[in-house]
Amino acid sequence: MMSPTHVATGVVIAAPFTVLAPELAALVALAAMAGGVFPDLDLFVGVHRKTLHFPVYYWAVVIPAAALAAVVPSSATIAAFFFFLSAAVHSVADWFCGGNELRPWEMTSEHAVFVHPLGRWLPPKRLVRWDGSPEDLLLTVLLSLPGLFLFEGPVRLLTVAVLVVAVVYAAVRKRVPDLAPWLAE
Ligand SMILES: [Zn+2]
Repeated sequence: MMSPTHVATGVVIAAPFTVLAPELAALVALAAMAGGVFPDLDLFVGVHRKTLHFPVYYWAVVIPAAALAAVVPSSATIAAFFFFLSAAVHSVADWFCGGNELRPWEMTSEHAVFVHPLGRWLPPKRLVRWDGSPEDLLLTVLLSLPGLFLFEGPVRLLTVAVLVVAVVYAAVRKRVPDLAPWLAE
């Protein structure tokens, strides 16, 4: 999925806090939004869907982070837990998208996301055919609803910005390989 989908997913993860612990909701949402975008920084350094995507190892961090947040609850420990949880969800979610090829709609890549302990790539499931596909944009819109209606302030503003990015990205997605070939692996 495109980064906006993962960022919106972070807000969905935080949404229960608007009812359960409203004073923590914005912190949790912002941490989960950051964790949602973080793995995709490997578009710029290393190998995309490998260098910062850890579908197994992030969970190994999530569990102690949960214990730490439970024993020593503070803004930092709670934010850290939701950051890593969101990054873990992102890394697994990309498995259900297309491959990490330059033009994923051609469906020639069998590289969805790298599983480091196995030392191999998972083949793409293509429930979302490629990042920025119409179904990916629909997913972003649906997952953005809590950010728009349950939150206010920076979380709502960021959600609007992320939606704008998603619409523009989906509109130009098929021209990205020509516009920005450096994004290719
Ligand atoms: Zn990703």
